Amino acid sequence: MIKVTNPADGSIVGQIPFLDATEVASAINRTCDAFPAWARRTAKERGDLLRGWYDLVRADKHVFAELLVKENGKCLSEALGEIEYGLGFIEWYAEEAKRLNGDTLPSHDPNASVLVVKEPVGPTAAITPWNFPFMMITRKIATALAAGCTMIIKPAEETPLTAYKLLEYARQAGIPKGVFEVVSGDAKSIGEAFTKDERIHKISFTGSTRVGKLLAQSCGETLKKMTMELGGNAPFIVFDDSPIEETVAGLVSAKLRNSGQVCISPNRIFLQDGIYDEFVKQLVAAVAKIPVDQGMQKDFVVGPLINQMAIDKVASLVNESVLNGATVRLGGKPHQKGGLFYEPTILCDLDDTFAVHNTEIFGPVFAIYRFSTEEEAIRCANNTEYGLVAYAWTKDLGRAFRLSKQLEAGMVILNSGSVGTASVPFGGIKHSGYGREGGHYGIEEYVHVKYVLMAGQNR
Ligand code: ADP
Repeated sequence: MIKVTNPADGSIVGQIPFLDATEVASAINRTCDAFPAWARRTAKERGDLLRGWYDLVRADKHVFAELLVKENGKCLSEALGEIEYGLGFIEWYAEEAKRLNGDTLPSHDPNASVLVVKEPVGPTAAITPWNFPFMMITRKIATALAAGCTMIIKPAEETPLTAYKLLEYARQAGIPKGVFEVVSGDAKSIGEAFTKDERIHKISFTGSTRVGKLLAQSCGETLKKMTMELGGNAPFIVFDDSPIEETVAGLVSAKLRNSGQVCISPNRIFLQDGIYDEFVKQLVAAVAKIPVDQGMQKDFVVGPLINQMAIDKVASLVNESVLNGATVRLGGKPHQKGGLFYEPTILCDLDDTFAVHNTEIFGPVFAIYRFSTEEEAIRCANNTEYGLVAYAWTKDLGRAFRLSKQLEAGMVILNSGSVGTASVPFGGIKHSGYGREGGHYGIEEYVHVKYVLMAGQNR
């Protein structure tokens, strides 16, 4: 058994099975065996089953929200927000299943027709992280199932209860065994069982760049299709012409979501000279007001980090910054509550030589840099191996377009701190990965395109 603990107080909130290799193999077999029948179902049948699952989960969203707070530590309002976001994927793909259209092309041969059809790639597997235990699962499963694929999923050890609960509701909704499977146990062995299996044709992974690269290497042997949503180092650029209050609010909500433990969290905040002092002043005032607490509260609070390793990492990044001359404008140490709570922290006077510049912080730390010109901002923003998302604020339309073209990221968000919804293509470039999740782009990752030539039409 694997015990699941509440990061807010260390109490045990549940346990899940630690499956051995034989049990994992049986679950993979079920996933593979279920594929032909699932792929043969009509898109409407698959969509209806997804919709039934959506309705059951929605009716009990408070059960899921409480579970999320307990196993992840995020606060209730955020948990409910994640559930809305995650349900959006089931709803979207329940509908999208029916729109997986092919093509007919003008034929090069007068006695032939050319068809292009989309077919599900086959049985698939997914590995998910702990920061969005609900949405990460629905986003992958709903897309796969809509396309006609089956999927086996290994959730993160820290937050598997939501995954098992989603599975329970899927079964109640009539989604058959094998079509959606969940396994838990040794991450590395399960990863290898997925990547080495010739029958699994695609892996969708969200997690660290380190593990993503290991999986990609291992998938090389069986040439699987892959979707890789990996680490980020998001720039958040604020030009002098930005409305300060609104921009501060956008930054605070983007940064403190899930206590900063989000791959699209603004990791490097670049402020232009003219706005710098006032912006920092207002940011300090705004962040100082936000309570730090366990998550079963109605209002937004900054919760605990996921585990001791996360606290140690954040503390060492902050300490290293201070030792090298950064100024602490707020916070700067573990919270007096103890445990896994860390003070929301604002660091100034940083540059690209600091570790905090080149590391995904994954904690409630605002790392602030200064710039003078647009060219400098773009150069600094792109000065990272990652390329998931880039945020920028400006009222200058020409500059907004230039930024959208020159920022190296899979997603560029202008004048907002909010990125995700079910209808948009989420994903990165460079070491942040490849492939997209969401919208009609997401489902394309689960099909192959088959060209059919229907020749011999002469009478
Ligand atoms: P994080 O730092 O967010 O925990 P990880 O990449 O370590 O990111 O974990 C993301 C997911 O990958 C989790 O489900 C974890 O169990 C899984 N994982 C970790 N190491 C491996 C591995 N060697 N092979 C397969 N999966 C792994």
